[in-house]
This record gives sequence, C-alpha cells and structure tokens, in this order.
Amino acid sequence: MLGLMQDWPLLCHRILEHAAAIHGNQEVVTRSVEGPIVRTTYKQVYERALKVSQALDKDGIKLGDRIATIAWNTTRHLECWYGIMGIGAVCHTVNPRLFPEQIAWIVNHAQDRIVITDLTFVPVLEQVAAKLPSVERFVILTDKAHMPQTSLKNAIAYEDWIGECDGDFKWKTFDENTAAAMCYTSGTTGDPKGVLYSHRSNVIHSLMANSKDALGTSSADAMLPVVPLFHANSWGIAFSAPAMGTKLVMPGPKLDGASVYELLNTENVTCTAGVPTVWLMLLNYMSQNNLKLPHLKFLVCGGSAMPRSMIKAFVDMGVEVRHAWGMTEMSPLGTLGALKPPFSSATGEERLDVLQLQGYPPFGVQMKITDDAGRELPWDGKTFGRLKVSGPAVSKAYYRIDNKILDEDGFFDTGDVATIDEHGYMRITDRSKDVIKSGGEWISSIDLENLAVAHPAVAEAAVIGVHHPKWDERPLLIVQLKQGQNASREDILKFMEGKIAKWWMPDDVAFVDGIPHTATGKILKTALRDQFKSYSFPNAAA
Ligand code: ADP
Repeated sequence: MLGLMQDWPLLCHRILEHAAAIHGNQEVVTRSVEGPIVRTTYKQVYERALKVSQALDKDGIKLGDRIATIAWNTTRHLECWYGIMGIGAVCHTVNPRLFPEQIAWIVNHAQDRIVITDLTFVPVLEQVAAKLPSVERFVILTDKAHMPQTSLKNAIAYEDWIGECDGDFKWKTFDENTAAAMCYTSGTTGDPKGVLYSHRSNVIHSLMANSKDALGTSSADAMLPVVPLFHANSWGIAFSAPAMGTKLVMPGPKLDGASVYELLNTENVTCTAGVPTVWLMLLNYMSQNNLKLPHLKFLVCGGSAMPRSMIKAFVDMGVEVRHAWGMTEMSPLGTLGALKPPFSSATGEERLDVLQLQGYPPFGVQMKITDDAGRELPWDGKTFGRLKVSGPAVSKAYYRIDNKILDEDGFFDTGDVATIDEHGYMRITDRSKDVIKSGGEWISSIDLENLAVAHPAVAEAAVIGVHHPKWDERPLLIVQLKQGQNASREDILKFMEGKIAKWWMPDDVAFVDGIPHTATGKILKTALRDQFKSYSFPNAAA
C-alpha cells in the first residue's frame, strides 16, 4: 500500500523560493570582487536567479547541460547556482586553485557549455580557452564598467547578460533524482573524479545540515561561509542558510585574517565555517591586534584535522567549536563533533579531548570500519580500519567512470582510516593510501605528524612510508623547520620518544625547505613520495 501524501519533488530551487517568500527581506551581504560591500536580500537573489535561468534558456541551455562556475563566494555566484539548477541544468563548480591544465581537463570531461567566472580568473582562462572546445561562451561576473578586454569566446558581462532578461520566467518541475550539481575531487591520485549530486540528495543534505547538532543555524543568525562554493559545495551552506532564512555574509576573494575579521565583526556574524588554515590566519591577526569577536557564537572547522591549540583558542573566546569531517563524495557532511551526553558537561582537557574527535554522523549517514578483507571492526575507540559510509547524499558512482565504488552492502570506502568509539564518535587516524604498513601492522602517519609539529622548532611535518627490506614499510619523518630555528634529527626523535609505541618511531628524519600542498591545502604526499623515491633508510639492512 502506498501513502497518500503529495508527490512534491525535493528540488533545490524550492529552497530559494521559500527563502524569498518567507524571509524575503533577510540580507545577503558580499565583499565584491570589485571591492565594495554589496547588500541585497533573498527576494532580490531570487528575482535575479530567475533572470539567470532566462538568460541560459535564451542561450539554448537545456535540462542536463553542464554550466561551469569558477568563482568566489558572492551573491552573483549564489544567483547562478539557483538559476542553473532551476532549469534542470547542472551547476559544475570548478576549483580555481587547480593548475590551468587540470581546469581544462575537468571542463572537457564535464563537457561544460558555458563558463561563468570572476574577473580574477579571466587571465587563467584565457591561457586554456583554446583547449576548451565544448565551451560556447564565457560570462564574467561583473558589470559593463568593470568588463575587461578579453579574448574569451562570446564573453559578456554578467549584468548585461541578465540585464537582457525581464525575469518573467518560471522554474521547472522535474524528477527529484535529476542531476543538480557536480564537483570533481582534487585528484591527488590519478585523474580527478566527477561527483554528481541530485536535487534530492542536495535537499536532504541541507535538512541534515540544518539539524541542531550539525550546522543548525536559525533566522536570527548571520552565517559567513569562508569555505568556498567550489570546495565540496561550501558544506551545503548555500542551501541550508536560505532554507532557514539565515543572513548570509559572502567573503568574496579576500580570505586573509584581516578581511575575514572585518566582516565577522561589522556584519555581526554569529556562525562561520572554514578550514583550519583560515582560522589560523584569523587567530594570528586577532592576537597581533588584540581583537575580540563578541558576536561570534559558533564556528565549524573541517577539511583537515583541527589542531587542539586552535580548538582551545576558540573555546577560551567563548565560541562553540564544532569539528566536522566529510568529503566531496558525501555532499560533504559526514560527522560533526557536537558534545552529547555524557560529554556535554565535560570541562577542561576532557572537553578538548572530545572536541578534537571528528564527531558522529547526523541522521542520514551510516558508517562502519573494516579490515582490508571487509570484515567489520569493533567500535572501541582504539581499533582502526577503513572507514565506509552510506546514505542518501553519498555517491554511488563517479561521472563517466565505469567503476564499482560500493561494497556488497552498498557502503562507499572513504579512503580514510578511523576508529569509532562506543558513543559513535569517529576519529580519523589516516588516509588509507598514507597509512604505513609495517610488518603487517598499521602506523598512523597523522598521529606521527601531530606529534612532530608539537616540537617548538617544527613548522610542518609529513610522514610517508618508505620501503624497508624487513618490515615492508617504515615511517620517514619529513620536517620543515620554523624560520631561524634549529633542531637535529636526534632532538626531534628524542622529543617523540615515550609518547608513542616504540615500533611507531620514525626510522629517520629528513629536513626540507618546504612541504608541497594540494589545491585544497592538504599535504601532497604523492609529491613527497616522488621526491624520496630513491631514499633508503640508513638502518635498512635485511
Ligand atoms: P579534496 O581532496 O578535494 O580536498 P575533499 O574535500 O573531499 O577532497 O577531502 C576529503 C578528505 O579530507 C577526507 O576524506 C579526509 O581525508 C580529509 N578531511 C576532511 N575533514 C577532515 C577532518 N576534520 N579531519 C581530518 N581529515 C579530514
């Protein structure tokens, strides 16, 4: 027997329709790429998003066509998201921090028909435009006055493009499983892989994001997403904030400590979200200038592990800190570290211990840990294994890649290695390709790195597994020292001794001038493995 409720497809654009109808006067504030702060409302965002749809329709864009955006967090970018999705086209966010060749590869793989971009990226796109045969036109997110001379094909200023439309347009209704958006993983191993979100998965994800123990903002909040729209969907905030009528503050191109602080302060921001690098810049700026943020109540940090010292700094400021873990393939939220009983009343170091964990999943994400053979491992907070997940906003396949990515129970292998404790809190111990397999046992490279960076002379540390004739692999610690500081191999090893199991101790320490990073700010271990491919341990006698 079927239920007798309305067949109301979960479509992304319904979120903005709701925001315009119920929270129409709520503000959306942007630091524009041209410079000035621009103020608008959800009602205006909605009206202009309809014009984007109309302009795309005039350009012959149809259901299922891919439209790329290569742009900062701004109101115009938000309008484009909804305008693209509202006609059933696919909003393909491209990360501008990738190399131009990677951008070209991704645009070609997606077969994007239009590229919508900021002034900032016009020069990069001019370099690769000749290699983008599928692209019919470039829309530059600016007005006539700021439009540059450019060789980009059929280039038009955004304000002219939508200015030709009257907005008398209706968004379409279609199957909620229709593709809404796509985002390629950054491809630190092999080619990038396209993750294809549906309207249904995005709407369900935004409802998950809006639960109190997740991102949970309200219409009384102001949210500043530092995490970009082009990085894992801005953690869903472009959907979750309008769904709640939360004021949005978009930081545009300026993500340095001073600029982010200024917006947090002047716009009375209560909630914000971003990666640890951004918070480090903010904390440095605030401590150098002896500044406070009296309005900020809630800060979400994810994308890579949040250091304990950073958690403490925000806790000491009276800000509720929430560590989050996720990935592009999960839309991206996987777990969040809200404090549930019995930890809600924990104080001091014990509270920090829990806040440092990656957290537990909201309803809508299931997880398990397994060994290499796929056997489930216990939730004891100590045993670590491959972390696998399932849910309505988790990928089941990659775009145009014929590869089975789910196990027989329908779980996706995240590529992370983790423990889960009896309360359901998960802790990342490594990436599965980075874990060091020594004599059949696993050593966590992340735990070793965290320990090494606690040494006062160490700026950054990376650990890779290097072939060893007896143990198969042993850890090599690669260290970049702080400017003007000195420490020897022995100093660093001595510092680590006694804090980890003896057989976890790195076999050697190598000093480098710089540690390479990916476009999303993570340590690029493939490059380090390459750099040290002919390295052999001094003690490596068989
Ligand atoms: P990219 O490689 O493009 O940055 P993602 O943003 O999807 O791709 O990265 C997801 C990966 O980032 C996760 O699988 C995990 O390894 C890492 N990650 C994300 N959040 C955290 C966190 N809070 N702690 C540790 N690692 C994290």
